[in-house]
Amino acid sequence: MATAGKVIKCKAAVAWEPNKPLVIEEIEVAPPQANEIRIKVVATGVCHTDLYHLFEGMHKDGFPAVLGHEGAGIVESVGPGVTEFQPGDKVIPLFISQCGECRFCKSPKTNQCEKGWASDRADVMAAVDSRFTCKGKKVLQFMGTSTFSEYTVIDQISVAKIDPAAPLDKVCLLGCGICTGYGAAVNTAKVEPGSTCAVFGLGAVGLAAVMGCKAAGAKRIIAVDINPEKYEKAKVFGATDFVNPKDHSKPISEVLSEMTDGGVDYSLECVGNVEVMRSALESCVKGWGVSVIVGWTELEDFSARPVQLIAGRTWKGSVFGGFKGRDAVLQMVKDYLDKKVMVDEFITHNMTLDQVNDAIELMKHGKCIRTVLTVSPQ
Ligand code: NAD
Ligand code: ZN
Repeated sequence: MATAGKVIKCKAAVAWEPNKPLVIEEIEVAPPQANEIRIKVVATGVCHTDLYHLFEGMHKDGFPAVLGHEGAGIVESVGPGVTEFQPGDKVIPLFISQCGECRFCKSPKTNQCEKGWASDRADVMAAVDSRFTCKGKKVLQFMGTSTFSEYTVIDQISVAKIDPAAPLDKVCLLGCGICTGYGAAVNTAKVEPGSTCAVFGLGAVGLAAVMGCKAAGAKRIIAVDINPEKYEKAKVFGATDFVNPKDHSKPISEVLSEMTDGGVDYSLECVGNVEVMRSALESCVKGWGVSVIVGWTELEDFSARPVQLIAGRTWKGSVFGGFKGRDAVLQMVKDYLDKKVMVDEFITHNMTLDQVNDAIELMKHGKCIRTVLTVSPQ
């Protein structure tokens, strides 16, 4: 490619500071260094974790940054030492790396690879290293990915090569939300056939958890959200019941306990709220109930009475659905192409990168499931 080895000037949405709209700027993207890949981003979803960084976490060392971590694109050029990728390959950037060599990658029990940009300064959600500059300033790469940019540079251990038949404006959602929720049900909760589940929060992550519960054979899936507009969508993915906590004066855990003769077998928290995490745990049946925290927050401690766990419940957490990034995304793209998992059904809006602030507003106000932004027209 004519651009290989050169700095590329392109458009990106820059988050200069917390709690402010993103600004479309021209940025410079340096060529990939050893073991890195420069990618032309074709499409990206907007996930609540982008909003978390901007409006909730607001970590001062995490700005300026280019947000976006749910994208798909095409390899533009590769750095020295990259042998598995070539210009033209279709790829999905990953915020969970898979080096294949560290003790975590070698264990089948976890997807917590210890290499890759995203695991460096995980609290800040942006590594010190970055290939972006704007107006002479270094701009950080959120979660090691930064898909709100026409071009990005990513460590090869954080990139999944996918089937060239995959439509990038759809499968970009497999870069975060769908794999996260689906895997939390299938891999982390390990939902069993015939079981009863409750999913708290019906954004893309929660709806994917509903889809995972159904795929695992759950017979009853109770969808819980304070926004009743989400229920119709939840039915599409397999929800059998809907509960709005606002419709009840008693705690939601009591409501669910009454509905299920003592509590659900599995609950998944897909909101990112410590009170909801507690409710999800307390909604599980004693003896064997499993509750999984998927929603993201680092702002507060959570709490629960020890007897909840002493009585036999298990409380777990899940990042990227417990999936090992590169292997899982390749497989999930295949499963989508084979019509075994839904993706298109999560997309409620299509916009362009210039409209990223509108997409953020839609999510803030609960008006979308996923907005897909076209970043570079193909
Ligand atoms: P979203 O904003 O689209 O959906 C959140 C849903 O929760 C909304 O439907 C909202 O109405 C609902 N909600 C809010 N308060 C509630 C309450 N008290 N009770 C019940 N429902 C409530 O977000 P999303 O993109 O689906 O992400 C969901 C969460 O998952 C976020 O916290 C996000 O940061 C997190 N996340 C975690 C991972 C991970 O790897 N663990 C990955 C991606 C996203
Ligand atoms: Zn995400």
